[in-house]
Amino acid sequence: MTLEDATRLLAEAEIENPRGEARLLLAHALGIDRDATLTATPTPDQAMRFAALVSRRTVHEPFAYITGAKEFWSMAFDVGPGVLVPRPDTETLIEEALRVIPDRSAALRIADLGTGSGAILLAALTEFPNARGVGFESAPQAFAWAKANTERLAPGRAEIRLADWDAADGPFDLVFSNPPYIPSGDIESLALDVSRFEPRGALDGGPDGLDAYRALGTLLPRILSPGGHALLEIGIGQANSMERLFPELELVRIAPDLAGIPRCVVLRNRKDCLGKTPSIG
Ligand code: GLN
Repeated sequence: MTLEDATRLLAEAEIENPRGEARLLLAHALGIDRDATLTATPTPDQAMRFAALVSRRTVHEPFAYITGAKEFWSMAFDVGPGVLVPRPDTETLIEEALRVIPDRSAALRIADLGTGSGAILLAALTEFPNARGVGFESAPQAFAWAKANTERLAPGRAEIRLADWDAADGPFDLVFSNPPYIPSGDIESLALDVSRFEPRGALDGGPDGLDAYRALGTLLPRILSPGGHALLEIGIGQANSMERLFPELELVRIAPDLAGIPRCVVLRNRKDCLGKTPSIG
């Protein structure tokens, strides 16, 4: 298969950047740089491998599943079927962590609830070199990706547990979560890459999309250390519900992503270091 054939097939399948993706898939099939793809002359074997990759993409299998890798916070994560592909929007959670905890040397205890590939947890651990982490993941396939990424990117610094986040006991100084938050009825209208291939358990937030936050509203006050922070990703239109979902915590702010969409809820455990809620006045 030539680059032109691949571009045409991807365009017919309504892939957004067919030429660019065709070149990247060719680069992947040949194990060469994207720049070298214009002059490459694939062997018949390589051409077949390329054709197989292109045909996977024409049915909208996520590009990252095909190449097996996705960049997040300038780190390379291994990904594949069964795990949510890390999104650039989610980097907002890391930015907010750096804002609420300016001391990079803090010996933080970090948890990531529904860690998926481990992207959030491992990015946070690189920014806070003295921190240690626990990632909770109840889906076995995603758990395996998180474990592999941890062993490669932050060996010895995080424990990945195949467990529901109810198993989290704490206390944690920093709790991250990018929970499932798409209303069940909206999943079929998402991009095909997402609705056909990504794990439903990472997307489906119940009838109104807010099931996970209701569960977090009960869990977080129990596991946050006094003064500890929780940073949660939310979807479009969900910001207004957050105040009432976390009555026991202080809602510090809701930070926008790069597109200006409210994306990261910053919550703080009001209790002071003695475990008491400070009295006002
Ligand atoms: N941001 C993802 C999407 O738009 C959803 C991930 C999630 O539900 N946490 O597909």
